Amino acid sequence: MEKVWDYCLFLLKQKIDKEAFETWIKPIEPVKIEDNVFYLKVPNRFFKIWLEENYVNEISSNLSFIKGEKIKISFIIEESEKAFLESNDYLRYEKDINIPYFNPSYSFENFVVGPSNQLAHAACQAVASFPSKAYNPLFIYGGVGLGKTHLLNAIGLYVYKNKIIPKEKICFISSEEFTSQLIDAIRYEKTHEFRKKFRNMDIFLVDDVQFLSNKEMTQVEFFHAFNALFESNKQIVLTSDLFPKDIPNLEERLKSRFEWGLITDIQPPDVETKVAILKKKAGLNRIPLPDDVAFYLASSIDSNIRTLEGSLIRLSAFSSLSGSPISLSMAKEILKNIIKEKDFFVDINKIQKVVSSFFNIKLSTLIGKRKQKNVVFPRQIGIYLARKLTNLSLMEIGERFGGKDHSTVIHSIRKIEKRVNEESSLKDLINILIERIKLSKY
Ligand code: ADP
Ligand code: MG
Repeated sequence: MEKVWDYCLFLLKQKIDKEAFETWIKPIEPVKIEDNVFYLKVPNRFFKIWLEENYVNEISSNLSFIKGEKIKISFIIEESEKAFLESNDYLRYEKDINIPYFNPSYSFENFVVGPSNQLAHAACQAVASFPSKAYNPLFIYGGVGLGKTHLLNAIGLYVYKNKIIPKEKICFISSEEFTSQLIDAIRYEKTHEFRKKFRNMDIFLVDDVQFLSNKEMTQVEFFHAFNALFESNKQIVLTSDLFPKDIPNLEERLKSRFEWGLITDIQPPDVETKVAILKKKAGLNRIPLPDDVAFYLASSIDSNIRTLEGSLIRLSAFSSLSGSPISLSMAKEILKNIIKEKDFFVDINKIQKVVSSFFNIKLSTLIGKRKQKNVVFPRQIGIYLARKLTNLSLMEIGERFGGKDHSTVIHSIRKIEKRVNEESSLKDLINILIERIKLSKY
């Protein structure tokens, strides 16, 4: 086994960059191989999460290559860490598919509420407190890593812990898992049981319904389960990273049902909310996180909360390995790959001046309130660039563009983002504008 692992290390070294290899791969200790599962010991739960999110496929494919058969990986956390985790034993993972597994840390208490998610949060709390009485179905949509799964889990956890619904009547499942259970049911001729199981639930929490896209047979089953539950007044909550009507290759009848109840969205958080989330996570995991570091992370990482958390985990691991406390300079050093430095300082005035002169409209018109047809597009471009090139929050950007509200700002950003991905000419235009903004001396 040790030989296998050594050889695996050798292969991994060629593929993973040096710093990451030293931080994440080196501390792993092989424990045993059993039934094609390779057990690997890691120092703490951050390692486990980080490895599972980033390196597990790489490790298992190398081990499979070496052993000549499919090898799965299981990470074991060192004893002292395990004791901590198991103190939540009433929530321990249970393999039985009828008993849902809730992540104990994805609770309402641990969810930080800010302008970007407060409606979704309130709707979820209402549904958890009064299943089938508030909104049905509740449909939550929002970008990747913004807290959809967290909220869905929180609903399940809440109804379970407060004994509103017994555990066996709670279904908490991803649409992919739904599909894979359906396939198993068909394979083993158990479709009848499959249907019965879902129809018996009192609450149906389904994560990532966008993955139903293109799966015709699953959609049919899902449709029937949905109807049966809805008709007997059972609570349904769905999450998706797309708005129902934007999910491609999804039957119309499903799309329309998804829109029957309340649709609520989660937007990317502003800097203040990001700082609050970081502090919350640091507190929960007992990571000493100085304020300046929290602010640095929050203002430099704008992709999503999962990346934000990943950077915290990385910092924490580095700090415990190196034995020195987390500091701003450590953060800058360790995270230089993740964080794209805002390499030049941009003043929003500069953006507005360049955009207005490029489109040949008056600055006052561009940042005014009126909605003439010819300013809509330049204004969206201006808003998009402000988001991309400054640290201003969505609200501040809205204020600087004629007092637009937060959702209008998001709408503009999304619209341009989508088009930039689809139209190379628009991408060129954006790059030209950025170039001009960089060079401009206004
Ligand atoms: P999604 O399902 O939308 O892709 P997740 O629910 O998995 O995103 O969230 C990604 C990570 O970010 C999780 O660890 C979650 O706990 C955290 N997170 C997201 N939003 C919040 C929030 N408002 N407060 C605290 N943690 C959050
Ligand atoms: Mg999710």
